[in-house]
Amino acid sequence: MGSVIDLNDWRLNSMQGPVCAIAGCPNKPTNQCPKCSTYYCFEHVKSHFHMESSEDRQNRYDDINRIR
Ligand SMILES: [Zn+2]
Ligand SMILES: [Zn+2]
Repeated sequence: MGSVIDLNDWRLNSMQGPVCAIAGCPNKPTNQCPKCSTYYCFEHVKSHFHMESSEDRQNRYDDINRIR
């Protein structure tokens, strides 16, 4: 049980100190995402994704339809 990472603990740590916000990632957080203001290591700042509200997605979809 000792090796299981508590996600809540990890999240708290990532707010306070130098760990990547991706749970279990051992890399140093060298980049702050401008969109979610969370620190990630170089790899994860590129590959993490955001929760998009369905409203945003719908707007984008409408824009595409309008152009065509
Ligand atoms: Zn982000
Ligand atoms: Zn990372």
